[in-house]
Amino acid sequence: MMSFDVLEEMIKNIFSSSFLDGHNVEFLWHAGEPLLAGIKFYEKAISLIEKYNVKNIEVHQSVQTNAIPITDQWCDFFAKHNFNVGISVDGPKFLHDKNRRNWSNKGSFDQVMRGFCKLRSHDIGTGALCVLTREHLDYPEELFKFFIENGFESVGFNIEEIDNANLTSSLNLDKNIISSETLIRFRTFFSKLYDIWLPYSGKFDIREFQDFFNVSNLKISDSSYVREPDETKNLGIVTIHKNGDISPFSPEFAGAESEKYNNFIIGNVFEDKFDDLMFKNEYQVIYRDIEKKKESCQKECQYFSICGGDYASNSYFESGDISQTHSTACKLLRQELSDILLEKLIKTKYESDGKYSMAI
Ligand code: SF4
Repeated sequence: MMSFDVLEEMIKNIFSSSFLDGHNVEFLWHAGEPLLAGIKFYEKAISLIEKYNVKNIEVHQSVQTNAIPITDQWCDFFAKHNFNVGISVDGPKFLHDKNRRNWSNKGSFDQVMRGFCKLRSHDIGTGALCVLTREHLDYPEELFKFFIENGFESVGFNIEEIDNANLTSSLNLDKNIISSETLIRFRTFFSKLYDIWLPYSGKFDIREFQDFFNVSNLKISDSSYVREPDETKNLGIVTIHKNGDISPFSPEFAGAESEKYNNFIIGNVFEDKFDDLMFKNEYQVIYRDIEKKKESCQKECQYFSICGGDYASNSYFESGDISQTHSTACKLLRQELSDILLEKLIKTKYESDGKYSMAI
């Protein structure tokens, strides 16, 4: 648990930063199960935000939960404070329960859906975060049906990644090579998913499709456009650990061990002001390698303008080197997925000429 002292110092520090001038800020409560901190913790956070937000910065609050602790009281709290609630659920029971098991080794699906139904009964719209394992790739119809029929508003697909404690991925048995079989299954999965989803576009968001279309539109309206991912921006994402330690860039870096990068800790809310962090050596060592990766990506990769050299934490966890260009995640979610969606859009253009830009 983060103590109230750390919570207060963190919030005070955030709102005193000149980085927020002209911007808004999102607090995303996640890692472990954030609702176990209890409603009182979040009420305290809200009162501290009101106290220190003297410049009236626009604040958004989100929480990523397994939904198990959700009660009517939580629903009232989320509705009152306009929380954006994301649920971690890996699709229908037979898929979810394979990997999401509790301490008694029982699948958690029924408990998760109980929490989700509570949210629905309070009319709280919810998005899902679904981890794709090798097995999921055989079930695009079943997955889509599950999310639509249960009334989720959106879904984002994370692939099962190698990161921190997760030392292997069922999608990539050999760290450095994605098998041709995995590639074919991945392509077939997203191709089918796109076809099933298309009639529902505008009513139900699939994050990966929406993200691609947003970037495509920007690229079409300005051919010099290059994506700038939050995870590569100076303090675009900052992760605060429960003891007040601060990690920059990808949230996945928080908790990772690395001698070179000082375990990805660049300071502590009790000792460092946000405005000073970028000048610290601990920050610069990581930043230089993030920049090096971006430069190499720009030279080597034809997807650079729609990617921006993202996925630094995946490069690190797979190769031990942030500046490595490729990773399983970027290969699958950026390169393969872009090819699949571009192919779909070009097909749409030829099947119904003149509707290309509408499809985008
Ligand atoms: S797709 Fe991979 S290699 Fe290409 S720019 Fe993105 S991170 Fe770099």
